[in-house]
Amino acid sequence: MSLNLTDVTLTYPDGDDARLTALDRVTLDVPRGSVTAVVGPSGSGKSSLLAVAATLIAPDSGTVTVDGTDTTGMSRGDRTELRRHRIGIVFQQPNLLPSLTAAEQLQVMAHIDGRSPARARTRALELLDAVGLADVARRRPHQLSGGQRQRVNIARALMNDPTVLLVDEPTSALDHERGAAVIDLLTRLTHQRSTATVLVTHDRAHLTAVDRTAEVHDGRLRLPDVSRC
Ligand code: ADP
Ligand code: MG
Repeated sequence: MSLNLTDVTLTYPDGDDARLTALDRVTLDVPRGSVTAVVGPSGSGKSSLLAVAATLIAPDSGTVTVDGTDTTGMSRGDRTELRRHRIGIVFQQPNLLPSLTAAEQLQVMAHIDGRSPARARTRALELLDAVGLADVARRRPHQLSGGQRQRVNIARALMNDPTVLLVDEPTSALDHERGAAVIDLLTRLTHQRSTATVLVTHDRAHLTAVDRTAEVHDGRLRLPDVSRC
């Protein structure tokens, strides 16, 4: 059980009658417990790849299968439900709510999911501990560093125990050392929690720990010749 994209093509409208091909017959299989990094220049299609994998955008053609469920032709409501239970998304900017503490940022996710407040609190504290933030659980975003905010963002994405973890340029606002720590953390969490993780970055510097690195150029994905996955 994992994440599979097969022969996925995505186009956007581009002026009168024209279409821009953002993803061109992309095939990608990400097993659980592994990180696939995706690198490529700005505009090459990395965020589009994540949006399709997250079922936020339906492709023009091809299939996206999440944890054994083919999402082709699913209603919007069913896709939302699938995301809620199976997919964790870490966007580039943490988008934390200014008035909530770190623990509450996570607990909100469980309210959406209908979990009891006490269980949600326990899980939030467990996850904050897992990302090294146990001692700042009561702080609000303005009392946290950029690296800490990004770690809250990652913990929040794991709140509902997703199968698939999709991460878009998590280090872009961080210095080298903090960026490397975030990538190491994501790799460790992936192995511990058995998520099928896709990590988009334009920075190759941190990628020694990931399981494999794919390259995207003009919407075409190239996987390494020799892969352990
Ligand atoms: P990356 O994340 O690698 O920078 P994107 O996936 O954001 O690349 O974009 C891929 C291509 O699709 C770019 O040419 C971009 O301008 C275009 N694009 C992205 N989103 C849209 C959109 N909503 N409408 C039209 N074109 C888009
Ligand atoms: Mg992008």
